[in-house]
Amino acid sequence: MADTTLPVIEGALLKVAQDKGFATARDRLEVMSPQCGFGELGTCCRICYMGPCRIDPFGNGPKTGVCGLTPDAMVARNLLRDTVGGTASHVGHARHVLLTLRDALNGKAPYQIKGVSKVMALAKTFGVPTEGREVNDICRDLVNIALEDFGRQDELPNNWISKRAPAEEQALWSDLGLMYSNPHNEIETAMHATSMGNDADPVSLMLRVLKMSLIDGWTGLTLCVDLQDILFGVPEIAVTEAAVGVLEENSVNVAAHGHNPVLSEKILEWAEKLEGDAIAAGAERINVVGVCCTGNELSMRHGVKLAAHNSQTELILATGAVDAMVVDIQCIWPQLAQVAKCFDTAFITTDAMVRIPDAIHIPFEPHHADESAREIVQKAIDAFRRRRGKPVDIPRHKSTAVAGLSVEAIVDLLAKLDAEDPLKPVIDNVANGNIFGFVGVVGCSSIKFRDNAMTEEMVKHLLRQNVLVLTTGCTAHICAQDGLMTSEATYRYCGDGLKAVLEVLGKAAGLDGPLPPVWHMGACVDNSRIVDLMVALAERLGVKVGQLPAVGSAPELVQEKAVSIGGSFLALGVSCHIAPAPRILGGPMVTKLLTEDLQELTGAVVRVELEPKGAADWMIAHIAGKRAALGI
Ligand code: SF4
Ligand code: SF4
Repeated sequence: MADTTLPVIEGALLKVAQDKGFATARDRLEVMSPQCGFGELGTCCRICYMGPCRIDPFGNGPKTGVCGLTPDAMVARNLLRDTVGGTASHVGHARHVLLTLRDALNGKAPYQIKGVSKVMALAKTFGVPTEGREVNDICRDLVNIALEDFGRQDELPNNWISKRAPAEEQALWSDLGLMYSNPHNEIETAMHATSMGNDADPVSLMLRVLKMSLIDGWTGLTLCVDLQDILFGVPEIAVTEAAVGVLEENSVNVAAHGHNPVLSEKILEWAEKLEGDAIAAGAERINVVGVCCTGNELSMRHGVKLAAHNSQTELILATGAVDAMVVDIQCIWPQLAQVAKCFDTAFITTDAMVRIPDAIHIPFEPHHADESAREIVQKAIDAFRRRRGKPVDIPRHKSTAVAGLSVEAIVDLLAKLDAEDPLKPVIDNVANGNIFGFVGVVGCSSIKFRDNAMTEEMVKHLLRQNVLVLTTGCTAHICAQDGLMTSEATYRYCGDGLKAVLEVLGKAAGLDGPLPPVWHMGACVDNSRIVDLMVALAERLGVKVGQLPAVGSAPELVQEKAVSIGGSFLALGVSCHIAPAPRILGGPMVTKLLTEDLQELTGAVVRVELEPKGAADWMIAHIAGKRAALGI
């Protein structure tokens, strides 16, 4: 790709690393290129030791694996294993939060219930009595309902999907055999079915992909976010800043990286408590900044500044200004420890699942959260003492950004326009075309797509056509860094219709200007918030979610988690754009299934577009088709 639109922040960060002689992921990718074509097409199998088997999709050489596995079955098995990886990550995260909440309620973990409104809302959804009861008792009932799902062997439908997902879609999933019971059993079954000598039917395997994706959507994402909101509070609109320029030369910079707010909330708490120690060490203050999804969690609930998305993680360490990077789970590059040890940076792992050579490991588990968080912040202060007075190289770039757009915050805002029927202003503006449609821009940041600013440019094309953008994860960081979460972006990029809507909403929110056109809805698990918003709009309109003028996009796919999230959108009937291509192109039947035939099953299709304008054009055309079908 032409190196013409590399975002200025990426360029500045790369220069810092290059000036100091660091090899970066780009260098490592370059020496590895071209990457394996069999792997990219999905036609390699190393599941058993008669392999690894590779099938040339152009017909040269073997037509099947040694055991006779066809290319379609091979790509479908591989895709299912990707989906299991993503789902296991989110379900594991959700279960960890669930057990933390249980232990907090039993007085064994030092966390308080901050999201009372969420407890009450979920109690209503699950039919838990509230009259005359303590919040903690209501909460215990919710915990038990969630725990039941992880222990059940009765094959009855899972509680969380049954009560939280829309009824009409559930009926379809039931007809297709996609409803699930115990998520752990399903993960086991999927791994079993994809092992040597088991499921070899591509259609059966692809249905398993959809089922696994539903588990991700409702027991991974939705359960996780529901419980995190109970523990840490429902996000409210807050203004923050984003990009490497949020690091402060004279402060103790603590970068919280990973996904689980059970850790980062405690780090933030102890950073406040130990501020005096930092000042005594010569610092102005302790500056907790957020990286990747943990950053999003902190910015959503506390307005904590966002320092870096995933592909910038090694680069911000090269500034020499990060005193501690504390990590929990997922998306933690092993390379980080190698960069950190070139500076005074304490690179601290905390989870037994994430052990990295050369890292400092401070075990963090909820029962002893305070002791561990205190030790971690003290390590950061110690690192600052060692760094103090040494030169650092912090690019000055940063942008303001509005965050905290939970569904509850959005509805509260809309209620200022219509208290009786808060969603009506949105519905009216969708109907009159001021809001042409919605795109959920989600997922990772990829060094393969940073050179053409894939996410930023695609989003700008969408905004010009009055498409409202909802974002989470590392794409939220990208948008925030590029100034797309500011009032100025509304003036600069939006079509007239969307601009008019956002001006009214900005006034209602008490902002100086319009509401930004890209709504920061949180971390990757918070894709459930996008789904909740779509479900609410669909219910208000009396249509299925898949009928809405809405599309999902993962413009810089990296992680398995993005595959399972995308699958959960597809199961809901929401079509998805994706870049790069998922590893299915070596299987013609599977490729056709996802790009065409799925329309008949759930109403959704997958589209691969590698350039920003092509991606935006396809999504706009798809939305236009949905609008036409709705008669608007
Ligand atoms: S296992 Fe697959 S992706 Fe890896 S080198 Fe072999 S063929 Fe390529
Ligand atoms: S399961 Fe079949 S296709 Fe896969 S490695 Fe073994 S023999 Fe090859």
